[in-house]
Amino acid sequence: MDVYGLVGNPVGHSLSPPMHEAAYEATGLDARYVTFEPATDEIARAIDGADALGIAGLNVTIPFKQDVLDIVEPDPLAERIGAVNTVAFGEGAPKGYNTDAAGVVRAFEHHDVELNGTTAVVVGAGGAGRAAAFALADAGSKVHIANRTAEKARELAAVVPDATGGGLDTLDQIRDADVLVNATSVGMEAPDETPVPAEFLHSNLAVLDAVYAPLETRLLKDADAVGAVTVDGAWMLLLQGAVAFEHWTGLDAPIEVMNQALRARLTA
Ligand code: NAP
Repeated sequence: MDVYGLVGNPVGHSLSPPMHEAAYEATGLDARYVTFEPATDEIARAIDGADALGIAGLNVTIPFKQDVLDIVEPDPLAERIGAVNTVAFGEGAPKGYNTDAAGVVRAFEHHDVELNGTTAVVVGAGGAGRAAAFALADAGSKVHIANRTAEKARELAAVVPDATGGGLDTLDQIRDADVLVNATSVGMEAPDETPVPAEFLHSNLAVLDAVYAPLETRLLKDADAVGAVTVDGAWMLLLQGAVAFEHWTGLDAPIEVMNQALRARLTA
């Protein structure tokens, strides 16, 4: 039996175990997916131990995504983003990937949103914001990053190809954008809050909200009301998981089955 898992602290409410175990069942893999919660200063020992024990693959979440970059051999995209969320063990050094980036692009593709040649605004410059900004730029979008801490957005824009950055006072750029990503946590704890004033939204926009609890955030409700394409955060979560599954197993991920397992545990 192959063992996969998630390392983070905390990992209590993770939706990854049911999503991945549904994929193993559908593809006939003899595998389990479990969660691990090492102490925050024990991640290097945890990765070494997982390698020694023959664990096949790990997802990595808060607060370890940056630390793991220095412990494994990251692929070039994970290195540019500065964070690893997927580790594959095997011959030689463990390999690190950032599948959040692919999750963003695949979520738009799944909704028939063509990214090449578009103008995009990413709100947020934390882990999800970095992944989204690089992913969109690599897919051919001209990206503007708007963040509460403007300096962080400008620093990120300096390393993302052809990007610009600023504070939340630059959110009016959404008026002329084709694509919008919320990569802040706004809308998660206070479901009626949105990071984006509704007046900037319009019908030519495709909006991905990385927040997946709740699924129907205030931002997505406002976007839907003006006729924009809306993509909820479960799509990003699903598709980053699907890409991790593909790195680990070399098989196509059974997206529909994984989606059902995930959505059965999420509420609007
Ligand atoms: P993070 O690294 O801690 O970054 C948090 C971001 O939110 C920062 O840009 C921060 O701005 C901004 N922010 C926080 N509170 C804010 C407020 N009240 N007003 C305006 N901006 C605020 O977190 P993360 O890992 O990027 O995660 C961000 C969100 O994405 C979370 O909700 C997370 O669950 C979600 N996420 C979803 C997926 C998925 O697969 N769907 C994957 C990863 C993350 P400052 O820099 O100014 O502090």
